Amino acid sequence: MFTLGIDIGSTTAKAAILKDGKETVASSIVIATVGTDGVSQAIENVFRDSGLKKEDIQFTVATGYGRKTFEGADLQVSELTCHAIGVHHEFNNVRTVIDIGGQDAKVLSLNEQGRMVNFVMNDKCAAGTGRFLDVMANILHLDISQLEVEAAKATHPADISSTCTVFAESEVISQLAAGTKIPDLVAGICQSVASRVAALAKRVGVKETVCMSGGVARNAGVRTAMEKELGVRIAYSENAQLMGAFGAALYAFDKANTVNS
Ligand code: ADP
Repeated sequence: MFTLGIDIGSTTAKAAILKDGKETVASSIVIATVGTDGVSQAIENVFRDSGLKKEDIQFTVATGYGRKTFEGADLQVSELTCHAIGVHHEFNNVRTVIDIGGQDAKVLSLNEQGRMVNFVMNDKCAAGTGRFLDVMANILHLDISQLEVEAAKATHPADISSTCTVFAESEVISQLAAGTKIPDLVAGICQSVASRVAALAKRVGVKETVCMSGGVARNAGVRTAMEKELGVRIAYSENAQLMGAFGAALYAFDKANTVNS
């Protein structure tokens, strides 16, 4: 049985097709703001790559920020639920999920069965989200994927003291003018995101194993800074950005089984 999970985020659209709730048949991440055709592209990609057709899909679940206006799913499910399911499936001992996306950051506490028992969220301020990193990468003329490479070369990480993204942007520009090296600036930028989100995580309580999901988890500079902030090892999967889409496809598998039984 094939199921489709679609995660329509603020910054990227993700889609994944799973076979029997286990095997990943195809997945796609398209960088596109919510409300554009990014979601159709992601869906087109997974059908093309898998060779499957719409009618081969037993059940489709949509999740994420843009799920409510998307009409092509059998069910819409919150991204908190889908991230919890996706992460628990990948690492069954995870008790804390730190999900940093394009415009928000969430920390979820899971019980031993992988059910979410508590969460905290920042969706009011760009600091501590992917947006902060996107703005800084733009100033430094770096691709977002290069941030971790630069951060790893730092010798004296810069201190970015401004908590507001707009002020931090000016601070980075003035540090650049004062001769601070790009790797040191990037390490300071990653550190700034990690300390904002670590403070959020401490509010909900940090129980090991801790896992990072969402697009920002792909940045090793932020992961390393987060490990230092929290004093724990962070579990990470290369599929971190797809956890919501996988969770949605797993939810769809469960739902299809209930409908069929
Ligand atoms: P959303 O679901 O809110 O749309 P995502 O979880 O897809 O967001 O995360 C998007 C963020 O991930 C971007 O704002 C960017 O900062 C970060 N990101 C995306 N791709 C990469 C990459 N290759 N390396 C590091 N960070 C990345």
